[in-house]
Amino acid sequence: MNEVDWDSLTFSLTKTDWMYIAKCNLGDAWVPGKIIPYGNFEIDPAAGVLNYGQGIFEGMKAHRTVNDRVVIFRPEENAKRFQSGADRLGMPPVPESIFLDAVEQVVSANKKWIPPSGKGALYIRPLLLGTGPIMGVAPAPEYTFIVFVTPVGPYFKGGLSCIKLIITDEYHRAAPGGSGGVKAIGNYAPGMMPSKNAKKNGFAEVIYLDAEYHKYIEEVGAANFFCIKDDIIYTPELTGTILPGITRDSIIQLAKYFGFQVIIEKVSAEFALDADEAFCCGTAAVISPIGSITHGQKTKVFSSGNIGPVTQKLYNSISGIHSELVEDPFGWLHEVDLNLNLQY
Ligand SMILES: *Cc1c(COP(=O)(O)O)cnc(C)c1O
Repeated sequence: MNEVDWDSLTFSLTKTDWMYIAKCNLGDAWVPGKIIPYGNFEIDPAAGVLNYGQGIFEGMKAHRTVNDRVVIFRPEENAKRFQSGADRLGMPPVPESIFLDAVEQVVSANKKWIPPSGKGALYIRPLLLGTGPIMGVAPAPEYTFIVFVTPVGPYFKGGLSCIKLIITDEYHRAAPGGSGGVKAIGNYAPGMMPSKNAKKNGFAEVIYLDAEYHKYIEEVGAANFFCIKDDIIYTPELTGTILPGITRDSIIQLAKYFGFQVIIEKVSAEFALDADEAFCCGTAAVISPIGSITHGQKTKVFSSGNIGPVTQKLYNSISGIHSELVEDPFGWLHEVDLNLNLQY
């Protein structure tokens, strides 16, 4: 396929031409990898990742801006989080410079797949997998670092739309001391059944409460939670069970820059159901306004279509920075050189 219909892109996989691959044995240092054609690769059936889930991922977007530059939003933060995740899962962390080079090379090699400004983004997916064979539960002897990309459309076609959520009292996403704070691949499959059940009942996603007190909001599926009451912005504090979202951190910084008071502490479900506005956030959807939250017999309706003013302001600001429609006060954009001299 050469011609992409940019207007019909959704958030799904479109295979592109090139991917990046690097390998490293346990105990060795990483050396830069190479760009190879996108496609299947061989893996030993005894690979650590297949048997024990030794793997992490990342997610970023490259946007073509209104100034026709191609930029990635704060990729240095993803590089750091990728390192913490590798540490937590006993894998050799990929140096930040190798991570950033890999990401830039894959975007550059697949430049024809970057949507025009305003039509979406090139979603970037780095993976670090324990690919060496191992029988006992122990770190794999070899690791593979892969980066692939896929063009994605805007998460919500036709602008922001409010989502209906349900709080689950039955399932938890992460426990204290576990791996909830890193993007470990094994964290995500257990959420699929609760999420599927919620969708069957007309909800977009579930909200998870903390596993200790069963009282405080942790996350919305795989997105971070915010609510607003009396013009004060609240978001759950990071306790190790919540994934430290880069969108979350950016929203906190922007909100403070706009002069809002931001309170970062435990947010009980009870408090959230009494808020004026609520939204969730992450790289994929940026900001999703929450229309209603159901918990047991109670349903709080925040909005039946209108987006709250604070949510709208934060969305305009962050998506405006992505496309260079508004100023980037923190220098968050990382420009990609599309004329890299790549050997492939
Ligand atoms: C990736 C992720 C997020 C959002 O993180 P961003 O860096 O903003 O994309 C939130 N929660 C979970 C569980 C995630 O995996």
